[in-house]
Amino acid sequence: MSKTDTNPFENALEQLDIAWEYLKLEPGVREILRQAKRIVTVSLPVKMDDGSTHVFTGYRVQYNDARGPFKGGIRYHPGVTLDEVKALSAWMTWKCSVADIPFGGAKGGVICDPKKMSQGELERLTRRYAVAISSIIGPDKDIPAPDVYTNAQVMAWILDTYSLIKGHAVPGVVTGKPISLGGSLGRDTATGRGAAFCTREAAEVMKIPLKGATVAVQGYGNAGSNYAIILEEMGAKIVAVSDSQGGIYDRQGLDAKKVLAHKEKGGSVVGYPGAEGVTNEELLQIECDVLCPAALENAITKDLVDGVKAKMIVECANGPTTPEADRVLDAKGVFLVPDILANSGGVIVSYLEWVQNLDRLYWTEEEVNSRLEKKITGAFRGVHEEAKKHGVSMRTGALIVGVGRVADAVRTLGLWP
Ligand code: GLU
Repeated sequence: MSKTDTNPFENALEQLDIAWEYLKLEPGVREILRQAKRIVTVSLPVKMDDGSTHVFTGYRVQYNDARGPFKGGIRYHPGVTLDEVKALSAWMTWKCSVADIPFGGAKGGVICDPKKMSQGELERLTRRYAVAISSIIGPDKDIPAPDVYTNAQVMAWILDTYSLIKGHAVPGVVTGKPISLGGSLGRDTATGRGAAFCTREAAEVMKIPLKGATVAVQGYGNAGSNYAIILEEMGAKIVAVSDSQGGIYDRQGLDAKKVLAHKEKGGSVVGYPGAEGVTNEELLQIECDVLCPAALENAITKDLVDGVKAKMIVECANGPTTPEADRVLDAKGVFLVPDILANSGGVIVSYLEWVQNLDRLYWTEEEVNSRLEKKITGAFRGVHEEAKKHGVSMRTGALIVGVGRVADAVRTLGLWP
């Protein structure tokens, strides 16, 4: 058996089959949903600051667009693989469907180490990648957004490059762009805020008061840090956080905003005054009410799942729990809010941004936040109902809803010729 439990695309297919057991639809539709509609691999020659030329590899995987244009972020990371991007694009498809927004799913990735690149190198790489995928993206085709180690500035470069090719400004080609270029208020905090709303709903189901609930967050990037800050505002106590360098722990509670300021100054949460140092593995096994993996895939594996003590898990990251670990958590009675629901706040506000771009009409931050709250709590309750109906986990419930709607769209479109 070559299965490792950590190939993200194999895991995504395993999840698809879990949903299929309950959906019992035509095998042909399952076959369609097991494949990406289009996979594009591009080589990206970039002039580096030292005068040399480096050829990077980039991907854009367009998984399914039965429910609307392809949608999904672009990741810059040295560990990017095609199977990872394929998995992320499948998860985007189910995620947009669970949130009931009219998008399909896609994902992009470039193998690079942005921490070791200058702004100039990153800009040249981004523009080269934008040109390479320019014929397959667009506001009605496929709309990229930020993901791991990409941000509003990267979106601005893609927007500019695409608009130069088209000969006019096309703000709706990307989301998560700067406010000055048509970005939406509230988009930068949306993933964390959406996950915080899900945590509030989950705490109610579990009858755990959110006030004083202890929370550990793995990963202190955009999603993790905003999640911690917003949850703290809701009354929770952030006891541990980490990033790629390591973690910090304080039973009395950390100050989420001060930790972010410390990371922004020194590049890491590590060394935050007054806190104890912990490793990323230790953080996942800390005694707490809520554990939020907000970094990369395969954080909670079969090897460390037995040590997980949290009562609730809220997946801010995509694919942080392997299927084997998932089964153990379920058997232990841990209430897990799955990635395709928990982190859907980002793409929900991307949808609101895209709508504002198409309408040329812009909303206040309060308006955006309240639409997000309504949309994601509605999705949470729908998934919870489905899970209760079948007596299954929230993950399986979310997959039944997400895959089910896409399957229905694929079947209704029919096949031509
Ligand atoms: N990268 C984010 C995600 O994984 C956001 C995608 C988007 O807004 O299109 O959900």
